Amino acid sequence: MRNFTYHRPSDAAAAGAQLAKSEEPRLLAGGMSLLPSMKLRLVAPSDLVDLGGIAALKGIKVEGKEVLIGAMTCHADVAANADVMRVLPALAELADGIGDPAVRHRGTIGGSISNADPAACYPSAVVALDATVETNKRKIPGDDFFTGLFSTALEPGEIVTGVRFKAPDKAKYMKLRHPASGFAVVGVLVAKFGAKVRVAVTGAGPSVFRVPAMEKALEANFSPKALDGITISPDDLMTDIHFSAEYRANAVVVMAKRGVAAIA
Ligand SMILES: Cc1cc2nc3c(=O)[nH]c(=O)nc-3n(C[C@H](O)[C@H](O)[C@H](O)COP(=O)(O)OP(=O)(O)OC[C@H]3O[C@@H](n4cnc5c(N)ncnc54)[C@H](O)[C@@H]3O)c2cc1C
Repeated sequence: MRNFTYHRPSDAAAAGAQLAKSEEPRLLAGGMSLLPSMKLRLVAPSDLVDLGGIAALKGIKVEGKEVLIGAMTCHADVAANADVMRVLPALAELADGIGDPAVRHRGTIGGSISNADPAACYPSAVVALDATVETNKRKIPGDDFFTGLFSTALEPGEIVTGVRFKAPDKAKYMKLRHPASGFAVVGVLVAKFGAKVRVAVTGAGPSVFRVPAMEKALEANFSPKALDGITISPDDLMTDIHFSAEYRANAVVVMAKRGVAAIA
């Protein structure tokens, strides 16, 4: 591993200033993805700017039908929060299904969405729950945040400070778990906001995506039957040593039907 300089600022402004003056800096959150990448020499930052000392980035606020989660909030805290369970139980359940206890107690929502792993669970919530990603510079609509494989709309020097979710009438996240890591082979989050439905898929493609055909069918008839006959093209989906693109395409429909059945 390349030598690096470690910084632990106590507010987001100081973290931003450190990013601006470092040669090749990286923010450090839970370290669950970044540290293995450094050990494998996939990344070699000159400076690590640890967000762990910034109290303002940690915590959960529920304001009416909105849930604001600080970027440095770990998955276990989201899963165990009584207000999240009450207002947005699908999100608590999603967080509770991430990885294993060690990952849930170290990994953070800010780190997860900034990393934009194609198999991560939170991107489906950011998109399906029409969330807003708040940074030290601006507010980014969830639909615009994920731009591709491990790629987001974040600019150099930009720090995610929190994610603001809208609580729908009903929502459900269904995941086909990778048997070793728990990551999503396919994860589908279905959310119903009044007459509107949003369906977001993670794990299947290089980045999270919505399925307009499913959304339209479910807006007409919110039942698993409404999804009969809808197919997903495997053309842009991922194939790896475990699962083919065709398998993932089929699993998207199966997971979506199961999600709708659970809440219809
Ligand atoms: C064994 C294992 C199993 C896992 N299973 C799952 C799973 O089932 N589902 C799932 O969704 N995830 C899973 N994960 C991912 C995990 O949940 C973490 O969310 C993820 O690794 C990154 O979060 P982190 O806080 O550790 O970020 P880090 O590893 O510290 O950072 C990741 C990247 O994000 C950047 N970053 C961090 N915070 C910010 C910020 N606030 N603003 C801007 N950039 C930032 C860093 O610079 C880095 O590039 C798993 C991970 C492991 C190791």
